[in-house]
Amino acid sequence: MSDLTRLTAADLAAKIHSREVSAVEVAQAHLDRIAAVDGGVHAFLHVASDAALASAALVDDSIAAGTAPASPLAGVPLALKDVFTTADMPTTAGSRILEGWRPPYDATVTARLRAAGVTILGKTNMDEFAMGSSTEYSAYGVTRNPWDPSRVPGGSGGGSAAALAAFEAPLAIGTDTGGSIRQPAAFTGTVGVKPTYGGVSRYGLIACASSLDQGGPCARTVLDAALLHEVIGGHDPLDSTSIDSPVPSVVAAARQGADGDLSGLRVGVVRELGGEGYQPGVQASFDAALRQLEKLGAEVVEVSCPHFEYGLAAYYLILPSEVSSNLARFDAMRYGLRVDEGASAEAVMAATREAGFGPEVKRRIILGTYALSSGYYDAYYGQAQKVRTLISRDFAAAFAQADVLVSPATPTTAFPIGDKVDDPLAMYLNDLATIPTNLAGTAAMSVPSGLSDGLPVGLQIMAPALGEAVMYRVAAAYESTREPLVAPEVSA
Ligand code: GLN
Repeated sequence: MSDLTRLTAADLAAKIHSREVSAVEVAQAHLDRIAAVDGGVHAFLHVASDAALASAALVDDSIAAGTAPASPLAGVPLALKDVFTTADMPTTAGSRILEGWRPPYDATVTARLRAAGVTILGKTNMDEFAMGSSTEYSAYGVTRNPWDPSRVPGGSGGGSAAALAAFEAPLAIGTDTGGSIRQPAAFTGTVGVKPTYGGVSRYGLIACASSLDQGGPCARTVLDAALLHEVIGGHDPLDSTSIDSPVPSVVAAARQGADGDLSGLRVGVVRELGGEGYQPGVQASFDAALRQLEKLGAEVVEVSCPHFEYGLAAYYLILPSEVSSNLARFDAMRYGLRVDEGASAEAVMAATREAGFGPEVKRRIILGTYALSSGYYDAYYGQAQKVRTLISRDFAAAFAQADVLVSPATPTTAFPIGDKVDDPLAMYLNDLATIPTNLAGTAAMSVPSGLSDGLPVGLQIMAPALGEAVMYRVAAAYESTREPLVAPEVSA
């Protein structure tokens, strides 16, 4: 294996921009790595070798011509979750119903990556339409966790996280509707950030639940995630929910945090996120992280968020309701698959949706349609929205007592493939600790917090809306006290 695949994005960028290595060499090293190991990992649904090399060559040309790099990440390779549209690559969202679909346009995130000179290696595997916590609901096969190929990498963005852990890419993009960036990060020992809602454009992000969906950066280090955050973040007039204010200065915050001084900061431990239902090794890692944060100078306080216990229930009413509406567009007339059975448009539509959607997607469409039906709207959807408000108030009260909140990112470490695939509730419980953030629209991330029985554990750090700077600072300080987690070598 080439050493280049072991470097951070920041180090790769420095070497490329000083012409110590070329962006083409860096791209080729990662493409070779993908060719060598992805048979065993299945992180990628599509690898765009030619386009990646061509994009890298452009970066090399402009550096050779003396032009300043397009961004601090120019020439650095990245794996893009297959839920962002790409005009030059297929985009499936992990669904059979989009097989063979070529989007006519780039998502804003895609366009910003290209403009920044980032080398897009290809598209990564995911649970169908980002519904799931294991990538087992992908229509294109499961992704394996590089730490233990018999286990899941988490989901829905398991492909992006596994690509990082297997050194197939130093950077990746995910989306987080209920935990799909943070939970896979925790399961693979990588860094995953769910930005403030509206912080990263949703234009060209195939919708799961529009009021919850948020794209964000994935990396192996906090600084790399921050560099990527600043490339993809910021206002986009094409997304009406995009926040019209500057991207928080997360790179500066990550650099500041690396000094390892958190004195003067208050870290709130959410009483309701931990204890019963959390694996002992996960809890032990969390307790050790708290001691470490104290050593760095932070003051650890306990806070209570009493409505978080209703978060999962509210989420599984709000999300399916939005899904049932968003996925109505897959009507056999406009995109991808079309099963020409029956004489009427309705019959073609029904046959296409029957063949094109997997069981979890169907389950949620049915649930959401029910929750929105006139007789039940107030009792289910309406109630869930009220819970959402209460959770936001819990966060507001907690952030009055602490600069950031912390919890284990997930109740358990990565579970075996097949373990929960037939038990939706067990699968849903993965996101117990991550969902409140999505309901409130605030920011949160998972950073590696050691191993439990040989499997990675994630520490979740949560911040108020647009409070990413302090979150990155705490994450970088914590990271500076730890050895990087390196997954065992995977075989193809
Ligand atoms: N696992 C959660 C779900 O299935 C979260 C998914 C996500 O964040 N996209 O809905």
